[in-house]
Amino acid sequence: MNITVFGTGYVGLVTGACMAEMGNHVVCVDIDVGKIERLKRGEIPIYEPGLEAIVKRNHASGQLDFTTDPLPAIAHGQVIFIAVGTPPDEDGSADLQYVLGVARTIGQHLNRYAVVVNKSTVPVGTADRVSKAVAAELIVRGVPVEFDVVSNPEFLKEGDAVEDCLRPDRIIIGSSSERAVGVLRKLYAPFNRNHERTVVMDERSAELTKYAANAMLATKISFMNEIANIAERVGADVELVRQGIGSDPRIGYHFIYPGAGYGGSCFPKDVQALEHTARDVGYDARLLNAVEAVNRDQKSKLFELISRHFEGQLAGKTIALWGLAFKPNTDDMREASSRHLMEALWKAGAKVRAFDPQASEETRRIYGEQPNLQLCDSAYQALEKADVLAIVTEWKAFRSPDFNRIRAALASPAIFDGRNLYDPVQVEEAGLAYYGIGRGRSL
Ligand code: NAD
Repeated sequence: MNITVFGTGYVGLVTGACMAEMGNHVVCVDIDVGKIERLKRGEIPIYEPGLEAIVKRNHASGQLDFTTDPLPAIAHGQVIFIAVGTPPDEDGSADLQYVLGVARTIGQHLNRYAVVVNKSTVPVGTADRVSKAVAAELIVRGVPVEFDVVSNPEFLKEGDAVEDCLRPDRIIIGSSSERAVGVLRKLYAPFNRNHERTVVMDERSAELTKYAANAMLATKISFMNEIANIAERVGADVELVRQGIGSDPRIGYHFIYPGAGYGGSCFPKDVQALEHTARDVGYDARLLNAVEAVNRDQKSKLFELISRHFEGQLAGKTIALWGLAFKPNTDDMREASSRHLMEALWKAGAKVRAFDPQASEETRRIYGEQPNLQLCDSAYQALEKADVLAIVTEWKAFRSPDFNRIRAALASPAIFDGRNLYDPVQVEEAGLAYYGIGRGRSL
C-alpha cells in the first residue's frame, strides 16, 4: 500500500519504517527541515534500538522516503497517518494545534479517497474534530472527496519501539466506517499473522483506551512508590515486598518498580490530559490527581536524600550522576527525573558530573553551556572529583559496577540508588553508604 506519515518523531519514524519493512511504500513528512535532511542522508535523529538498520535499508531500496512537502505526500497516501506531537498545554490539556494543522493541510490537498489515521495520543472527540477540519478545507476548495478518519492509538514503548511496532500486543482500530476498517485490516494483516490482535471499536472508545492504558501504568508506578514511602518509614524493604506481591498473577511483576518517579513524553502528559478531560465533563478524577501528586513528590526524593546526607549544605558539592534519559535505551529527556534532580542540585549550589550512554547530545541541546554541568564520556569519568554518586536511569551498563572503584573515587563515598539497582549490603560492605527508595534504612 502507499502510506504517508506526518511526523518523524519516535512514533512517526518507527511507524513509517516498520510499514516500509512490511513492503509498503512510505513517505514520511515533517516540518522540521533539519530532521528531514538528516534522514535523507541516512542519519537517525533519535536513538531507538534497531531503527537505524530498517530506516537505511528501506530508504536505500526506495520503500521509504522523506519530505517536507505535504503536497506530493498527500497525493501518495491511500492511508495517511497523523503522528505529530500533542504536548501539554498550560492547563494540562493536550495541545491539538499540530494534529489539527495536519488535518487542515490534508483537506487542502486531498484529491481522492484516503483513510486518515490518527496515531497521536489525543483526547476523546478528536477524531470528530480532525474530520471536521479536513471537511472544512474540502468545502472551501469545493472538492467533494470522500475520506474517513480512524483513531488508531499507538502503544509502542521507547527503547523497544521497533519490536513493539513489528509485533504489537494489540491493534486498536477506532472507526465506524466499514470501508476504513477494511483498509486498515489489510494494512495490518502482516503484523497479525500469528494471532488476531485487532480490536475494532468506535473512535471515542479507541481514544480513551490509549489514555486508560497509560494512566493504569502510571498508577502502578505511583502505587509502588507510595508503598516504598511507607516501607521506608516502617523499616521494611520494598524490594522484598515487590517480589512478594509480583508473584500473584493478579498483580504480576510488570511496572511495580519503585524509583525516582516516572517521566517521559507520555505518562505525565497523558495522566494530566485525562484528568483535564474528566474535569471538562464534571468529574473529579481523584485517583489520577493522586497518581500525579505522588509522582511529583517522588521526583524530589533523591534530592531530599542527598540534601539530608550533607545536612542541607550542598553548595560547592559535586554529584556524579549516572543516567539522564527518562528510561534506558532511549535518548529522550522529556520530563526525565534527572532534570528535576539536576535543577534542584544547581539551585542548591551543587555541581553535576553526568554520564548517559545515549542522552548527552539531548542534554546539551536542552541545557546548552550550563556551567554547573559536566557531561562525561564514561560512568567512571563522572566520578572524578565527585563527592557522591546518584543513579537515575537503570541502564544495564550500571547494574554491576566496581564498588571498590566507586568508593576510591568519591570524596564522601555514598550511592543514591534512584532505581534500587543494588544490594544495600554489598554496597555497604564495599565501604559506601547506601540510600535507596523505600528500603527501610533511608530515614
Ligand atoms: P515527537 O515530538 O518525537 O515527534 C513529533 C514530530 O512531529 C516532530 O518531528 C515534529 O517536527 C513533527 N510535526 C509537527 N507538526 C508537523 C506537521 N504539521 N507536519 C509534519 N510534521 C509535524 O513526538 P512522538 O514522541 O513521536 O509522539 C507523537 C504522538 O504519539 C504524541 O501524541 C504522543 O503522545 C504519541 N505517542 C508517543 C509515544 C512515545 O513513546 N513517544 C508512544 C505512543 C504514543
